[in-house]
Parts: sequence; structure tokens; C-alpha cells
Amino acid sequence: MDDREFLMIPGPVSVDEEILEALGRSVRAHYGDAWTQIYKHATASMRDVFKTAGEVHLVFGSGIAGVEMCISSVLSPGDEVLIPSNGLFGDRMAEVAIANRLQVHSFRPGLSEAITAAQVRAALAEHPGVRAVCIVHHETSVGILNEVEGICRAARDHGVLAIVDGISSVAGVPFEMDAWGADLCVTVANKCIGGAIGVAPVAAGPRALAALDDGRPKAAGWYLNLATWRRYTELWGGWHPHPTTMPTNVIEAFDLAVTRLLEEGVENRWRRLAAARDRVRDGLEELGFEMLSPTSVASPVTTASFGLPGMDVSDYIEWLLKNHRIRIGGGLGELRGRIFRVGHMGRAAEPEAIDRYLRVTADYIEQAGLAGVHK
Ligand SMILES: *Cc1c(COP(=O)(O)O)cnc(C)c1O
Repeated sequence: MDDREFLMIPGPVSVDEEILEALGRSVRAHYGDAWTQIYKHATASMRDVFKTAGEVHLVFGSGIAGVEMCISSVLSPGDEVLIPSNGLFGDRMAEVAIANRLQVHSFRPGLSEAITAAQVRAALAEHPGVRAVCIVHHETSVGILNEVEGICRAARDHGVLAIVDGISSVAGVPFEMDAWGADLCVTVANKCIGGAIGVAPVAAGPRALAALDDGRPKAAGWYLNLATWRRYTELWGGWHPHPTTMPTNVIEAFDLAVTRLLEEGVENRWRRLAAARDRVRDGLEELGFEMLSPTSVASPVTTASFGLPGMDVSDYIEWLLKNHRIRIGGGLGELRGRIFRVGHMGRAAEPEAIDRYLRVTADYIEQAGLAGVHK
């Protein structure tokens, strides 16, 4: 490994050499036959990853650009939306909606608890004017999986759209867009897929496309408007199936990452990351750590753990970085200084990487004089 950090954070994640090599190839034009073939191969492959017969666009931007596109393309200023939150990214989704002049209803489950379908049903009954439910699948800030399947069903039963932030879950955690009834879903190239940072695949099903064309003026402007992206796919589909210049190297690397994902099998990737989660959790528990949440709600792609009694969590995080060039994540908000988070995406899922991390964590406990405190 080179002198860079080995990322064991819940994103971004370290990627394979061949992805870096694809990024390093000479730049190609973002139009023409060869390019269009790569782009269409990547979008078609992503349908198998989202598990949708709907359409996929590769939005050049961060994950939140995709979230903003989903929310603003199908809703109009003043529309009511329900955005429950149990962490930073749920809050961020609400901020995006507010910035797009939507009227946001929200609620919070208890700290380190999942958002349930029953809670969403109750909130929808309380706010009959809501037009969409926006939900984070894996709330990365606390490593908790929300009940997205049931929440999508609740939205559908109420006749409202379901918009899913699958940024840290799609390809890492069981997710079936069509079977679950999600209407719009966004993920990113890097996290569970293992491509480079820079594109947000956005998937849209038939109800979302009907909402695009319902004649109501939408909150979206031009670039982050799904209608614009669709128009260019239709008008220029044969040579330039997107509205603007694309990060061609990033998309080429992404296409390779998705090809590798499909070779592995999406379900196998889910299982592999869950096994990595078990390896990390079991190893940490053996060292005396207490997990933030039980496996029933804990995500297979991120483990959140409390520090040991008397442990200075930020010192531990800095020590790993300084002495072993391993970067793990800290707690956010009210959990800052109390928990740390280990991601299991990308190269961080490799068993050797996990074992090395656990070994040096045992060293830290030893040298910090924390050995036996939990006994
Ligand atoms: C990483 C992450 C984001 C943020 O994505 P950006 O690429 O930084 O815009 C949003 N939501 C979730 C659930 C994430 O894990």
C-alpha cells in the first residue's frame, strides 16, 4: 500500500487498483458512439443493482445532488413532504427540501433507533396533505437501517411518492426498488459500489415519471431537474445521452466497478459486507466494546460502537491514523466523543484489513492502559 490512508470510514472508501487505473487513462470526449456505449452500459447495469425496470441517470455531482434532483423534480414549491430523521443525513434531506421551498413535516425516533413503517403510517394519517415521503435507507451517521421496505409500502398505500436516499445502502444492503415500491432512489458511485467519487446514479420509476409530467411547476431549476436529463436522453440519446459534459474517467471507472459488482452478484455483495460487519462487531465485542445498536437495526455496512469506559475516543481515532494510517469515523452531533464508526464498504470489507484493524485496536487498548477495564 502507498503512504495514503486506508479508509475504514463509512465513505468515502478506498477502491481497488484497477479502478484507479481506469481513472488514470487519457480523457475521452463525453459524446460519440464509444462513449455512449459506456454510459448506456453503466446505466443498464445500475438497473440490475437498484433492481428496477425504471430508468437510471448518472448525475455528475455528489450524492446530495442526486437527492436534490429527486426531491425538486417531482414536487412544487409549497408542497408538503414527510421527512423523518434519525441522524445527519435525514436532517440534510429536510434541509434540501426546505431550500427548495417545500413544507417539511418530520419526526425523530429515539436516539439509535430505526424509523419504522408504523411511525410513518401514523405521521401520514396526521398530515393528509403530504405528497411524498423522503427517507434515508441507511442513516450512516449512526449506522442504522430504517424500515424502508415498509415505509415505501406505507407511502404507496397513501398514494404518495417514496423517495429513498440509498447513498450508503444500494449494493451493500438488500434493496429492491420495484418490489418495495420506491419511486425515486439515489446512490453514489463510491460507497458500496466501489467506484470513484463524482457521480450519483438516480433511478426513477413510472409514478415518479408521471409526477414529472403532471403540469405543476416544479421546484427544480435546469441542471438538477430530472426532466432535463430525460429530455437529453431522448433528444441526443444516440451520441450524448445527458445534458452536459460528464466526468468521463469517473464514469469509465464506475462502469468497471459496476461490472465487477455484477460479476460478484449483488446478493453476494450484500452477504460479503454483512460478513465483514459480523467480523468487526464480533472482534470489537471480544475486546470489550459495546455496540450502539443491536444487529436487528444495525447496518451491515457501518458499525457504530461506544468507546470503552475511560477511553478517549478521539485519541483512539487519531492514534490509528497516526500510527497505522487507518482512518475510522467518529460520532456526530450528540454522539461526538462517545462513539466511533467503522465502515465495511470498498476495501474496508477485506478480512485481512479487518483483522489488522482489530489487532492494532488491541494494541491501543494495551498501551492506553485500558486492558481489563470492561471485565
Ligand atoms: C455519504 C452520504 C450522503 C452524502 O453524500 P455526498 O456525496 O456527500 O453528497 C448522504 N446520505 C447518506 C445516507 C450518506 O451516507
